[in-house]
This record gives sequence, C-alpha cells and structure tokens, in this order.
Amino acid sequence: MPELPEVETVRRALERHTTGLVVESVRGRAVQLRCPLAIDRLRRRLPGHRLVSFRRRGKYLLIDLDPPGTLLVHLGMSGRLLLCDPASTVLPHTHLTLCLGRDLELRFVDPRRFGLAQWLAPGDEARHPSLAALGVEPLDERASRELSPLLHARRAPLKFLLLDQRLVAGVGNIYATEALWRAGVRPSRPGHRTALPRLEWLVEAVREVLNEAIEQGGTTIRDFASPEGNFGDFAVRLQAYGHAGEPCPRCGEAFLDDRLGGRSTVWCRRCQR
Ligand SMILES: [Zn+2]
Repeated sequence: MPELPEVETVRRALERHTTGLVVESVRGRAVQLRCPLAIDRLRRRLPGHRLVSFRRRGKYLLIDLDPPGTLLVHLGMSGRLLLCDPASTVLPHTHLTLCLGRDLELRFVDPRRFGLAQWLAPGDEARHPSLAALGVEPLDERASRELSPLLHARRAPLKFLLLDQRLVAGVGNIYATEALWRAGVRPSRPGHRTALPRLEWLVEAVREVLNEAIEQGGTTIRDFASPEGNFGDFAVRLQAYGHAGEPCPRCGEAFLDDRLGGRSTVWCRRCQR
C-alpha cells in the first residue's frame, strides 16, 4: 500500500517533470473507485488548465491548476500515477489519463479501486471532509512541538495514536512500528503516561524514518519518466517492521509480534519501554 513517503516521492517527481504543462485532454471511464470517478466533470474542467504546483496532505496529493482548481488524488491500496509516452501500452486498470501534450501522459492505474481522483473547485478543499479532518503533518517543522502535547493528552496506546489520522496525517503501520522501535518506546505505552521530552523524541523518530524513506525513494525517480514509467518497489531499509522473531539489531533480543488493535506490531521487549 502506498505510504506517505511514496506519495511524497510521486509529488516531487510530478513537480520536476510536469510543472507548467497544460492538460490538453482527459480520457477515462466512470468507474467506481473509493467514490465514483466523475469522468464527465473531469473532462469538462481539466482541459486548458496548467499544472502549477503539487502539494501533499497526509497521503493525499493535491495538484493545483491555473485557472484555479485542484485535482485531488489518493492512491488507496494499489494506486499508481505513471508518466508515460502516449504510444506506450496502456496497463489494465488505467482509470484516468491526462494528456499533457504530444510527448507525455499522466495515467492513474488502480487495480483494487480504493483510490480517488476528484476535481476540487476553489474553496472546496477547506470543506472536504477527509482533508479537513487530517491532523498534524509529520514532516512539518512544527510537528514535534505541536504533536507531543496532543499525544500526551490521550490515554490510548502510542501506536494507536500515531495511526490516528485525525492526530497525525499519513503515518501507517510500517513507519509507526519503525519509529517506536527507533525511539525505544513501547507501542502499548499510553500517551498520558509518557513524558513530553520522550514524546518529542518519538515524533522526531517518525520524521526521521519518513525522511529516510523519501530519500531512498528518490533514487527510483530516474525510472519515472521512462516509457513505462513506474516507481518499482520502495526498498526502504526497515530494522523492526517485518522482522518478527529475528534479533533486535540494538540488543539481540528476539522481536515480538503482538496484535495491537488488530494490527501486527513488532517490538523489542528489552529496548522499548
Ligand atoms: Zn532491542
């Protein structure tokens, strides 16, 4: 499933390769994604609009256009945005294609159809229920200052709190697990029983793992503009997530794998307290 670093990598790649290009035409079908793809609306709205900037909120990608308007994209469970040569083979499950001139198409492919592509008129963003409910952006400079008191005010286990999109925008199971291990904090530790400096440390660990993943993802960008433009898999070096039963790299104790709120939670009994 695309996580925040993948979405950020897509954002940066689109910024690099498509800023200033104009949508000439739109192709697609009215398929059922997370909500129905309003292809007629996109066909009416998008052509003639220039792509001016690319923003990210949590795992949402916001493509700002001129004349003003925004294309909101979420990759869901299996969505991908591909920059392709128009002559290249169209993959199955390509639901939406923006033609960006003679040489380039932006294609949205989503086999499992949990993604989203939606036109937002100016002003719609502030009223959009999913966007308006998103919490603090973890990569924001202010994150550790703003987030630690919010975590400290809750009684729930920190692992839950990190995954709560209303508190922290866009952090999934992989990066929450990894950050808790890195910060030496027990996943089941309640927010209100954790001292503020430790919480700041934890938020810094979240930022660190996300930034490292983005840096590593950046190395796959060179493939992005190739005819079959594909990101490939994110080869993030994870030290805790996915290593249940293996020795903890820090202390050698075998990693435990507990279910916490129905999600697999790998952690080290010795160095996470
Ligand atoms: Zn350990």
